[in-house]
This record gives sequence, structure tokens and C-alpha cells, in this order.
Amino acid sequence: MLKNDMLEQWDRENFFHPSTHLAEFARGNAPHRVIEGGEGCHIETRDGHRLLDAFAGLYCVNVGYGRPEIAEAIAEQARSLAYYHAYVGHGTEVSIRLAKMILDRAPDHMSKVYFGLSGSDANETNVKLVWYYNNILGRPEKKKIISRWRGYHGSGLMTGSLTGLELFHKKFDLPLSQVLHTEAPYYYRRPDLAMSEADFVQHCVDELEALIAREGADTIAAFIGEPVLGTGGIVPPPAGYWEAIQKVLDKHDILLIADEVVTGFGRLGSMFGSDHYGIKPDLMTIAKGLTSAYAPLSGSIVSDKMWKVLEQGTDENGPIGHGWTYSAHPIGAAAGVANLELIDTLDLVGNAGRTGAYFNRVMREALADHPHVGDVRGEGLLCAVEFVKDRDSRTFFDATDKIGALLAGLLLEDGIIARAMPQGDILGFAPPFCLTEAEADEIAEKTAKAAKKLFDWS
Ligand code: PLP
Repeated sequence: MLKNDMLEQWDRENFFHPSTHLAEFARGNAPHRVIEGGEGCHIETRDGHRLLDAFAGLYCVNVGYGRPEIAEAIAEQARSLAYYHAYVGHGTEVSIRLAKMILDRAPDHMSKVYFGLSGSDANETNVKLVWYYNNILGRPEKKKIISRWRGYHGSGLMTGSLTGLELFHKKFDLPLSQVLHTEAPYYYRRPDLAMSEADFVQHCVDELEALIAREGADTIAAFIGEPVLGTGGIVPPPAGYWEAIQKVLDKHDILLIADEVVTGFGRLGSMFGSDHYGIKPDLMTIAKGLTSAYAPLSGSIVSDKMWKVLEQGTDENGPIGHGWTYSAHPIGAAAGVANLELIDTLDLVGNAGRTGAYFNRVMREALADHPHVGDVRGEGLLCAVEFVKDRDSRTFFDATDKIGALLAGLLLEDGIIARAMPQGDILGFAPPFCLTEAEADEIAEKTAKAAKKLFDWS
């Protein structure tokens, strides 16, 4: 193992880190951290710190760190066949088995899986499939995609456009013109505090209807949404939201893409967010939890309805002009098969539901009554604590106060990794599914302790 004093210098001189303040990092003013190992819910840094990772990497190491079953499956696949492509009908045993395992778990009306490598490329695939579908159906004008403010769908050109967060647009000339944004289903940030949850759902519906009317339903192809808003603030939808939105989409013949990159494979205590909320998607995006990040792999799950049109398209136009060199990469597929088997064997979806309910309860008990906590919310093993300057008037802190980042920093000093979400003073938690109640208690206690320290609560 490399142990020398040059590593930090090499890092700062050579490595372009994603989502990082490049100048501060190069100058040595932003942290450089090297992770060397992990087991269960904990990781170890090169300088010897053991940290409880309450965000499972980037909410992806769902089965926890250090699982030998997955490591061995990857090694075995690398030894027998590290790579062959999936073009023109080729495959490997693991990629074929994994496609079947995914479809066995997905809602009944889903038909096929296209494999990619990341959530971003899977959503790029989805948009291309939606456009292809409407071209085959002879509706070349029906192409725009509606996303929500605060939605997160990746950071490519199209997917960064779908993402509804300012940081991902600013100075990148995004969003592209084919993308429209509508109201986020974020009840805590409702425009009028007097609104009930039902009023707010109606408001979201009205906003969507108004956008469709302005643009013309014949120009709108699809709506994309995460069952629970993730990077935009970890926000479960208000009751009845998905049912009401789907009625609007059905009425206007608009396809629904459920972005299950975070919620897929158990995070809510259900196999998919679509099962959890009764969503009937035309396409589903999967990534992270498919392999628990032991290898990069993503997928677009295509419904029967769309598949029929894709088949018609290739009868009329020849093979589909879409493919990545690494689609269905055998090493990713081997990781996926071993990961899904492990989730079943250990009943980790059940544990995400049970421990998730416990975790959300202890987080609420530890934090909900404190004067600078506006909201504690969550579902399954997702939880967020939103901090405010004044809870009665719901006055937010100024972004320049960086309250979220300060709290995440204090928690880190105390051995807990939480994520300061990018927009708002929101601490996000999404621990691995093997979280124990004792670990849940520790996260809740230390979060309350960090908040007490920052705000000097008695
Ligand atoms: N969709 C959702 C809901 C996500 O949370 C993410 C990443 O966090 C993505 C898509 C993009 O995935 P990736 O970072 O693998 O491209």
C-alpha cells in the first residue's frame, strides 16, 4: 500500500474531484481525505479515523461495506471473463441472470432492462427512448420533458438539465430548451403556510396543469421524478401526490419516468419507490442500490407499452442506434447478482423498513423540538433535518451562513458522516441497510449534540 508524504500533494496537483471547490482544494484550503477500508456501516480513513457513514457513500453502499460475497463474485467473474460486449445479441451468464432478477422484482408491467453504468447515463437513455417512442408513433413535436425544481437526475447535458438545482445549471448554459421544471412536492416549503397537505397537492397539480396548458400537451413527452426527492432535500411527497400527478399525466398522454436511483432495491423498506407509492411508471431508472456501488452499473427498465413501440421502431428502421461499450459489463453484472442475492438472504429490505422507522423516530425525538429545527422528515432509511433561523415564521438562514456545512463538519469531528444537502440548511442521512438500532441511536444523539454546540442550546 502506498504510504508516503506525497499523496496529499499529488492529490491536490493532479486530481480533478467532482462537486468540489476546485480553487480551494488546489490551494490546500479544502479537505483532502483518503478512505482506505470499510466494514458494515463504518469506513476508515488513511489517517486512522473510523467513521460511521450515515450516508452510505452517496446513498449507494446499501448492503454496507466489506461484503466478501460480492468481492468474490467480482473476482471470479474477472478471472473467467472480465469483458465481452452486449451488442447485437451478445451477453454473459451474469448479465442475463441479472436482467431476469431485476424484472422479477420490478412491477409486473415492466418488460426489459437496458444496462448502463451510472444514473446519469441511464436517464440519458430514458430521454432518448422517449424521443424515439414519439417519433415511431408519428408525434415528432411531443418531445419536452418536465422535471421538478429540486429534482436530481444526474449531471450530464440532458440529465443536468433535468436536475432542478441551481448549482448544476449555473455557468454551464443549462437547462437545455427541451426541459421544463415544475413545483417540487416539498410541503415544508409550501408557498403559503396556511395550506393543508391536500391544498398543497392541489397546488402542485394546478402548477403542472398550467405548465402543460402553456406549452401544449402535444409538445410534452414525459415527466420525470424521484419517488422521494433526494439530493434536493430528502423530501417524501405529501399524501396523495403521486396519485394526483399520474391522473394529470394520463389525461395528457405524457409518459412517466420514475427515477429510482436512490429508492430502488429497498431504501424505503419496499423493493421500489414505485411499489411504495403506487406509481405506475413507463420507464424506471436504477443504479446505486443495484450493485450497492461495488461496481458501476445502472439500468433503464422499460414497460411493455414502450417496448412494443421500440420493437416496431426496429422493424421499420433497423437496429436501435444506442449502445455503450460497457453496457451490461460482466463485472458490474456479477456484483449486481451477488448484491441482490445478499439483500434477499439477509432480508435487508425488511431491515431498511424496520430500522428506518426506528431511525426516523429517534431522530424526531432527539431533534424535532429544538428551536432551530424546522422539520425532521423521512421514509425508510432516508431522513433529513432542516434547520431554520426561526421556526415559527419559517425563516431560513442566509446561504452564506453555511449552517448545513458547519453542522456536517461538527458531526464529522464526532465520527459521523452526514451530508449537507446542496440547497438549504438540510442534513441528509441515508445509512446502509444493515444499520443497527444502536447505530441509529448514536447518529441521533450526535446530531442533537452537534446542533446544541452550534446554536448553544441549553
Ligand atoms: N438520479 C438520482 C435520483 C440520483 O440521486 C443520482 C445521483 O445521485 C442520479 C440520478 C445520477 O446518478 P450518477 O451520479 O450515478 O450519474
